[in-house]
Amino acid sequence: MKASPDPRVWRNWARTATATPARWCLPRSEAEISAAVKDAALAGLTVRALGSGHSFTAAAATSGVALDLSQWTGITAADTGTGLVTARSGTTLRALGAELGGLGLAMANLGDIDAQTLAGALSTGTHGTGARLGGLATQVTSVELVLADGSVATCSASSRPELFAAARIGLGALGVITTVTLRCVPSFTLLADERPMPVEEVLEQFDALAAANDHFEFYWFPYGSQALVKRNNRVTGHDAELGTRVPPALPAWRRFWEFEVMENAGFGALCRLGRARPRLIPALNRFSSVALSTRTYTDTSHRVFVTPRRVRFAESEYAVPRESLRHVIAELRRVVPRLADPVMFPVEVRVAAADDIWLSTAYGRESAYVAIHQYSGLPYQAYFDRFESIVAEVAGRPHWGKLHSLDAGRLRSLYPRFDDFRRVRAEVDPEGRFGNSYLTRVLGDAHDL
Ligand SMILES: Cc1cc2nc3c(=O)[nH]c(=O)nc-3n(C[C@H](O)[C@H](O)[C@H](O)COP(=O)(O)OP(=O)(O)OC[C@H]3O[C@@H](n4cnc5c(N)ncnc54)[C@H](O)[C@@H]3O)c2cc1C
Repeated sequence: MKASPDPRVWRNWARTATATPARWCLPRSEAEISAAVKDAALAGLTVRALGSGHSFTAAAATSGVALDLSQWTGITAADTGTGLVTARSGTTLRALGAELGGLGLAMANLGDIDAQTLAGALSTGTHGTGARLGGLATQVTSVELVLADGSVATCSASSRPELFAAARIGLGALGVITTVTLRCVPSFTLLADERPMPVEEVLEQFDALAAANDHFEFYWFPYGSQALVKRNNRVTGHDAELGTRVPPALPAWRRFWEFEVMENAGFGALCRLGRARPRLIPALNRFSSVALSTRTYTDTSHRVFVTPRRVRFAESEYAVPRESLRHVIAELRRVVPRLADPVMFPVEVRVAAADDIWLSTAYGRESAYVAIHQYSGLPYQAYFDRFESIVAEVAGRPHWGKLHSLDAGRLRSLYPRFDDFRRVRAEVDPEGRFGNSYLTRVLGDAHDL
């Protein structure tokens, strides 16, 4: 494999991070990944594996070697009996979903897009919603990585369990993930029910809604009083027999109209108008809130979880203890109308079960996720700063791939196993080969243990 100096600039999807790597590599095998890491060491360069660039933070940014894993894709092993599937790390969730579908399998839960690579999504703790389900990393049963010395390590609950506890959400700090084994489930159909509800009512019934639905979330436009509540529930054979509870899939024209025209082209046009005339934003935001409509349909799980996102935005998201959600939303309702720069995008709220992955935002506690967004090109810093002070009061933990300002000192107080993670990092990467400035901020200096 050739690694050549290349002046190309790396940019993330949201255009909130850029970098100029000294070298780009496009490995096509594990041996080539290992060789790239060894070559970087000889040249005294750091290494970052690139995913799809969908982190809002500079998690993947590097001035060293950028490892483009877009040629390192596909499923390498699948057992349809146990549901255990091994895939190469550069596989996008979209491609993985399609391949799994062909095997009669699916991932048990997903976030709301599927453009991310498998390793990129796992490394930052990507999650969907569901009070009885954890984030994507909880579906992982083993991880294989190329470490800083070029060797290949495999870890699971029974083999190198500490590396496994760290590497499932490893921020790219421990090595280059080459393959991941996931515990998949048989393909399933979801019944989607989306309808507006007063936000007050949603908050009052929040725990009941989270408990009664497999996947529950809501969107709320900050100047409006209505929320859009999304409930996705698995359709069982019994439901199908009853027939009544099971509306059909959306016809292709309606999917196109609602997801592409209304939610992307139409909303994008409103956003552009708001950016040109910021004074109109609260009214546009209320209009979006009133325009929310009811939609029920069934479809294959990944076609319900995932929708196209073509309107670019900046985002911050924090996991807070479930019981703190009402406080956080009440504070946002108080704060947003007083901001000098109005907010064009909705707030999204999701839930997840507690888990035991060291750097998981849901480590050891049932969590509610509160995500705030602002349309690209509109000011967001003051909004995001106010949000951070609200969630700081309730020990909020930031999504590793979304904008936040916390550093290692603060993060240590939020993660009981933070220093264990740093210890494992120091063991497998004593020289900080996989470091970058984002990691220095959030984990501290690799040499400084
Ligand atoms: C429109 C949009 C919607 C989103 N929706 C959700 C959502 O519903 N839920 C949610 O939780 N998040 C969501 N996110 C955030 C997103 O899932 C994460 O930021 C994720 O990390 C992006 O994956 P990626 O492949 O783009 O990785 P990148 O952003 O490119 O990289 C992320 C990190 O993974 C590391 N990495 C990548 N590959 C490897 C590897 N092989 N080995 C080791 N480290 C590696 C990188 O170095 C970097 O540190 C969304 C983001 C966008 C832009």
